Amino acid sequence: MPKKRVREEEEEEEDVRVAVEASRREAKLLVRNEKLLGEIAELIAGKERKGVLFVTGAGLSCASGIAAFRTGEEAVWSRHVTDMGTRKALRKDPLKWYNEFWVPTFEAAKVRDARPSAAHTALAKIAALAPETRVVTQNVDGLHCARKHGSEGVEDPQLVEAHGRAGLYRCLRSGEAPCDEEAARNDWYEPSELSAEDAANLEKAASEGTQLPAPPRCPKCGSVAAPLALLFDECYDAHFFFEADAWDGWMDSAAAFVFVGTSFAVELTREALRRSRERGIPVYDINLVMPPPTITRADVLRHNAILGKAEDILPKLASLVERKLS
Ligand SMILES: [Zn+2]
Repeated sequence: MPKKRVREEEEEEEDVRVAVEASRREAKLLVRNEKLLGEIAELIAGKERKGVLFVTGAGLSCASGIAAFRTGEEAVWSRHVTDMGTRKALRKDPLKWYNEFWVPTFEAAKVRDARPSAAHTALAKIAALAPETRVVTQNVDGLHCARKHGSEGVEDPQLVEAHGRAGLYRCLRSGEAPCDEEAARNDWYEPSELSAEDAANLEKAASEGTQLPAPPRCPKCGSVAAPLALLFDECYDAHFFFEADAWDGWMDSAAAFVFVGTSFAVELTREALRRSRERGIPVYDINLVMPPPTITRADVLRHNAILGKAEDILPKLASLVERKLS
């Protein structure tokens, strides 16, 4: 046989070997994922019907066309977000802050018009089937919200948007009446409740990418309005909307925590991991990559990691839960 043929045949054999190895790995991963999803479904829908708390992050919204901030090519972006995403930066130059940072990042048409993905819809289905289910999200895209997205979202009593929601506003002032500290911490406004001019400017900036001529104002006192989102120099109890007491209570009562699409970089996930260790309850992680080895309970999380896209994994979990309950 000519030498060239032999080499070609050897190369072919090598290709086959690599392919077999890859499909073996894939099959192993699938078996492992199935086993872990079975455990979660049992916690949600088994005889004891224990409540499970889902903690969701940006990875869940990728399929809705919203990029994650802390992963991949956009990692540099995260430093920009933590520098710019503060009350301090907003107060320093509100107009620049809105035009260069907030509107293009969180209120552009592609974010504002995004629709729930298969992951959101599956989680909504699980929450509807098992009312003990709770969801706390670090996303501000509003994609979990039933009030916005009907049956594709999770109902208010089972959902906390712990970092707020883009597209809503609050007073930035904290001081004397009419917007004293209490009002600034409790009230929030839909765009339709702002002045007609502010509402029209925001709408135009989002849909046409134009610059705002002025930052939006609090409809009550006229001082600069902030978006209803937790900024990096604020605490979780900075506003009533963030419902810090609600998720704090859920972390005390849930039988297990399931993390979905989070990179464990915010205080919410750190607190959840601390609390789960304190209470000795199981934790699971649905994600594209293994959780970082440096975080609390990394060993347990890595052992219970369900690798794959949230929009593929959560519908499987929803089917398992549905089957168990029928
Ligand atoms: Zn005000």
